[in-house]
Amino acid sequence: MRYIAGVDVGNNTTEIAIGEVSGKGKVRFLSSAMVRTVGIKGTLRNVIGIIDALDLALQPLAIQRKDLSVVLLNEATPVIGDIAMETITETIITESAMIGHNPSTPGGQGLGLGQTIGLPELAAVAADAQPWVVIIPGTAEFADAAEQLKRALSRGLKIAGAIVQKDDGVLINNRLPQPIPIVDEVKFIDRVPVGMPAALEVAQPGRTIEKLSNPFDIATLFHLDPEETRKVVPIARALMGTRSAVVIKTPKGDIEERRIPAGKIILLGHRQKVEVPVDEGADAIMAKVADVYPMEEVQAEPGTNVGGMFEHVRQVMADLTDQPVSTIRVQDILAVDTFKPQQILGSLAGEYALGNAVGLAAMVHTQKLPMQRLARKLEEEIGIQTMVGGVEADMAIRGALTTPGTDAPLAIVDVGGGSTDASVINTSCEIKSTHQAGAGDMVTMLINTELGLEDFDLAENIKKYPLAKVESLFHMRHEDGSVQFFQQALDPRLFGRVVVLTDSGPLPLETRQLLSKIVDVRRQAKRKVFVKNALRALERVAPANNIRLISFVAMVGGSGLDFEIPSMISDALQEYGVVTGRANVRGTEGPRNAVATGLVLAYAEEFGG
Ligand code: ADP
Ligand code: MG
Repeated sequence: MRYIAGVDVGNNTTEIAIGEVSGKGKVRFLSSAMVRTVGIKGTLRNVIGIIDALDLALQPLAIQRKDLSVVLLNEATPVIGDIAMETITETIITESAMIGHNPSTPGGQGLGLGQTIGLPELAAVAADAQPWVVIIPGTAEFADAAEQLKRALSRGLKIAGAIVQKDDGVLINNRLPQPIPIVDEVKFIDRVPVGMPAALEVAQPGRTIEKLSNPFDIATLFHLDPEETRKVVPIARALMGTRSAVVIKTPKGDIEERRIPAGKIILLGHRQKVEVPVDEGADAIMAKVADVYPMEEVQAEPGTNVGGMFEHVRQVMADLTDQPVSTIRVQDILAVDTFKPQQILGSLAGEYALGNAVGLAAMVHTQKLPMQRLARKLEEEIGIQTMVGGVEADMAIRGALTTPGTDAPLAIVDVGGGSTDASVINTSCEIKSTHQAGAGDMVTMLINTELGLEDFDLAENIKKYPLAKVESLFHMRHEDGSVQFFQQALDPRLFGRVVVLTDSGPLPLETRQLLSKIVDVRRQAKRKVFVKNALRALERVAPANNIRLISFVAMVGGSGLDFEIPSMISDALQEYGVVTGRANVRGTEGPRNAVATGLVLAYAEEFGG
C-alpha cells in the first residue's frame, strides 16, 4: 500500500490529488485540494504553493506528509499566454469643446441655444435678441446665482440655459420663474470658452438626449457643412446615452483627425507566408490563421499599433521566462473585435467615445520548463521522493476519463486562464493535443476594457457571477427577470444598484452602466473567446480536422466552472452531434483536478502498490 500525491502546477492554480495505491491500476482517491499558484509556472517559487496545497489535502486524512511514497509533478506544457489590446483608430478632436455626462440631477429640461457668457458679466450686457448660456463657476452660491439670473431675466435678457460647476442644477432651477436647461457637475468649468455659440440639452428623467447625440441635429444648430458634420460624429457618439449635454463651437472650430496606422500581422506557416491588415478585423485575421496552420511564427509590422503590441507581449514573455527577447516567438494568436473607451481631447468633463479595437491573446512556446529542477527542490524541502510524472495533456485526458459516462474516443478542452488546450484520445489510446492563445484572462480583460472598469478583480467577479438589480430594500430582480424577496432589509448601500451575486454576498457595482448592457458585454466576451477557441481547438485535434468524428467532449479547467460557458459551447457543438459537457473528474471533482488525478492513475498503472 502506497500513498501517492499528484500535483498540477498551472499558471493560475496548483491542484493536488492524493490516492492510495494497493496494486497495479488499483487506486482509491482520498482527497484533493487547490491553491493559487505561487510565482510563474515552472519557477522554484512554485514550491511554496505546492507545499500549502499538499498540507491542505492531507489535513482531513489520518496520514502525514512523511507517509507519502511519491509526489508526482506534471510535465507542464511550456506555453504562456499574454493579452494586449490596441485601438485601431484614434480620433483627436482639437479646438472644439463639449460637455456631456450624466450628472444625477441636471436642472430643467429641453434644448437651449445661445452664446456663452460668465455669470459676473451678465449684469453689464444690454438686453437684445441675443440668447445667453450662462457659465456659473463653483465660487457662486446657488441662491446668489439664481438671484442674478432672475435679475437678468427681469431686465429682458434671454437666458437659454446654464452650465454649472457644482451639483446645483436643480436648486438654481427651482428659484427661477421659468425653467431652463441646466447642466451641472462640470468639473473643468474654467475651460468652457466664453463668447461662443453653445447648444445645451437636458432630457426628461429616465430619457436620454436626442438632439446633441445626432450629427445632423448638431449640424442644424450650428449650420455645419457636410465636411464639418462628418467631423462631429465622434462628439455625437460620445454624447449618446447621456441625460444632458453641451456642445460649444469654438473659434477655429476645426476638428483634427489623426489615424495611427493599425498595421499588419504577418503569419509564417510551414508552407506559406500571409499578411493581414489588422483593420480588416478579427474574423479576417482568424480566417487567415486557420489557413496558415500549422504555424511557425506570428510577427507584426514594426512602427504600427499592432507592432507595438507584439513588442510588449514578447518583452513580457522574455521577462517571465528569463530569456532574451530575440528568442521569443509568438506561435498562436486569438484576435477578437472589441471596443475601448477613449478620452476625447477637448472634452470638458472627461467624456469618452468607444473606439474600435482589436484584442489579441498571444501564445509563446518557451523552452522546456525546468520541472525537473522544481521536482528536486520540492524533494529537498519535504524529504519525499518527487518525480515528473507525465505530460500534462495526456494526464488531463486520463483524469477526464474518470468522468462517469465518458469513453474513448474522447476530446477534452482544458480552459484555463492563459491558454485553451485540447486533446483527443482515440480507441487505440493515441493522444493528439494542441495549445491555443486565449482563455479566461482574456475574457476578463475584455469585460474590464469594454465596461471601462479599470479594475481587474471587479471584471473577474462580473465574469464569474450573475447580476441583479436591487429594486427595493426587500427585493431584487435577477438578470433573468425573476424577482427574489427578502424577509430582512438588505444593506441600504445596495439600494437601486446593480450588484454581482458573489459567493460572499451581493457586491454593488460602481458604474452607471445598465444591467442589460453589462450582461451583453459579458456574454459577448465569452462567446468571442471561449466558443471560438473551443471550436478551433477541436478542429485541430479531431481526426481529419472534422469535429463530427469526435463523440464526447468534456470541459476541464477553471473556466469549465463558469456558469454559462458550458451551455454556450454545447450549443455551438450541437450541430456536430457531439455529446458535450463539463467533466466530473472521479465523479466528484467537477472540471477541476483532471491532471492531478491523471498523474496518480498513470503511476498506479505503471508501478502498482
Ligand atoms: P491554470 O490551469 O492555467 O492554472 P485554471 O484551470 O485554474 O488555470 O483556470 C483559471 C481560469 O479559470 C481563470 O481565468 C479564472 O477566472 C477561471 N475561473 C475560476 N473559477 C471560475 C468560476 N467559478 N467561473 C468562471 N471562471 C472561473
Ligand atoms: Mg491547467
